[in-house]
Amino acid sequence: MDIQRIREDFPILDRKVYGKPLVYLDNGATTQKPRIVVDAITDEYYSVNANVHRGVHYLSQQATELHESSRETVRHYINARSTNEIIFTRGTTEGINLLVSSFGQEFMEEGDEVIISVMEHHSNIVPWQLLAARKGIAIKVVPMNDKGELLLDEYEKLFSERTKIVSIMQVSNVLGTVNPIKEMIATAHAHGVPFMVDAAQSIPHMKVDVQDLDADFIVFSGHKVYGPTGVGVVYGKEEWLDRLPPYQGGGEMIQYVSFEKTTFNELPFKFEAGTPDYIGTTGFAKALDYVNGIGIDNIAAHEHMLTEYATARMKEIPGMRIFGEAAHKSGVISFLVGDIHHFDMGTLLDRLGIAVRTGHHCAQPLMQRLGIEGTVRASFGMYNTKEEIDVLVAGIARVSQMF
Ligand code: PLP
Repeated sequence: MDIQRIREDFPILDRKVYGKPLVYLDNGATTQKPRIVVDAITDEYYSVNANVHRGVHYLSQQATELHESSRETVRHYINARSTNEIIFTRGTTEGINLLVSSFGQEFMEEGDEVIISVMEHHSNIVPWQLLAARKGIAIKVVPMNDKGELLLDEYEKLFSERTKIVSIMQVSNVLGTVNPIKEMIATAHAHGVPFMVDAAQSIPHMKVDVQDLDADFIVFSGHKVYGPTGVGVVYGKEEWLDRLPPYQGGGEMIQYVSFEKTTFNELPFKFEAGTPDYIGTTGFAKALDYVNGIGIDNIAAHEHMLTEYATARMKEIPGMRIFGEAAHKSGVISFLVGDIHHFDMGTLLDRLGIAVRTGHHCAQPLMQRLGIEGTVRASFGMYNTKEEIDVLVAGIARVSQMF
């Protein structure tokens, strides 16, 4: 991988903040966009724009073709069997809400149970709590050890005859833990229970093959994998999606409407009410093409090298505490130094041009498990370099000395 060549594709990486070269280490929150993604969006607005699916005219058909070919790009990227299994959403959060709402309505009654894990993002906790308030379902939580690895024995013990679904992240946005999701899916299936994967933090960093995993549902966001904001995906096995009721009502998701009775459109449109972000999906497909061009395995290897290097170097700093030391880890390092508040560390690093995230990272129950309020988080992308890690380590050391 020629990192310098890749960096040229991301104009923002050239900018300075406070007169310092930007060191962007907040990729877990969102990634930067390569030129071809932004160009594809601009080009479509300038030369194709028309609403999709509804028009006989040339532009509408061209926009529809682009939109549907983006669906095929996503299908191919995750190795789904059919484009009927690819539903476009606004992002992971909307995808989880869609599934919780539709699955909960059809398949869950008072006293039924969902299994999630202690490290989930709020977007995979709160929708279940809303369902619990509506329907009286119970939420069971898989615990973890101090390294940040889920306890699989405990997981197995949580299943009961009331378990209706498991919903767990593949990669933790805080700890970087790569959960053994394939094994966990097999366990759920052995109990006759479907499995939903929050792939928001795995899709950008590793190959995700839905057939190999045998996942029933997976959700992810385009903006975390070098695509635009406002676009995401729900993948669902067709036999499941066929059985789920629609999430939202409106145009596009219907076959026929009368005041007496409405029939719904076929998959995937049944779940796509209203005008989709058809320009966003074009940008998203370009981002996936871009990642394919570089190779997800090359990206994974590069980010692994950065993570190992950063971990070793950061441990040289006195008072350094790293949260998340799982055997299988992706490119995220959460840390605290001595009793320096995460917010102070983040603010001072920012002054050195280093963009990191601070706080609870939308995982307050995980913070409670760790006994802390928040961390500083550096998260890596394909364009980060060892030199940037050196700048980060020097920055942390400098801030530490100030306290
Ligand atoms: N799940 C995980 C693991 C995440 O890291 C995030 C975002 O940080 C989300 C879900 C929510 O994604 P979005 O804000 O794109 O809907």
